Amino acid sequence: MMKTWSALSRTRRLSVTLCFHGIGEAPEDCDPAERPYWVPEAQLAEVLECVYAMEERHQVNIHLDFDDGFQSDHERVLPLLKKASLSAAFFVPTDWIDREGHLSADQIKDLVEAGMTIGSHGTDHRAWTELSDDELSRQLRHSKRVLEQITGAEVKLASAPYGFWSQRVVSAAIDAGFERLHTCDERPGRRAGFLNHRIVVRKGNDVDAILTRKLSVLRRAVHKAKDLGERLLVQAA
Ligand SMILES: [Zn+2]
Repeated sequence: MMKTWSALSRTRRLSVTLCFHGIGEAPEDCDPAERPYWVPEAQLAEVLECVYAMEERHQVNIHLDFDDGFQSDHERVLPLLKKASLSAAFFVPTDWIDREGHLSADQIKDLVEAGMTIGSHGTDHRAWTELSDDELSRQLRHSKRVLEQITGAEVKLASAPYGFWSQRVVSAAIDAGFERLHTCDERPGRRAGFLNHRIVVRKGNDVDAILTRKLSVLRRAVHKAKDLGERLLVQAA
């Protein structure tokens, strides 16, 4: 029997992925444009404490990502995730591993042992849309291989630096063996697709208010589509 639209919307919750970057004070040499992406530890702690409540309130599944492989992932984020009984995915540019202020290979192993997922964020954090076909393919394959050697597990997820993606990037990521590409397009959605359009959390953001706003826009669109679908079914009957 075919499932109806309304049955589908009851049984399949929407997914929302919140994307964080560095946690704590931005380093002194931080580019001014990057500073708003450094979220205070207390702000992250507050979000994590409310994840389960927000899932119920908004009827969504909430996932957590941390981009750029900063050392704060290990020092600040991991203890907070453990305290809140949550897991997350960490996207690491492989050329930055073992650099000052960034994760070491041993810290990446610690994250995996604690049940976290590791994904590729390329090698040197250049925008994938700007790379030649050869360089894009090399970065995707090389970063995947390096992370798999460190973690001993298959690396299935990638997140695009700066969130920049195109159909060419999608094809290259599929060819390199990735199963999902995370962007920063800020649209909640179903979990089934290849693209995961995450919501980026900045310093001072009210995540609960962002979810209310984004989800009401999305659900209005779903209702419109449902109405249209039902009208078409009536016409076809
Ligand atoms: Zn990044």
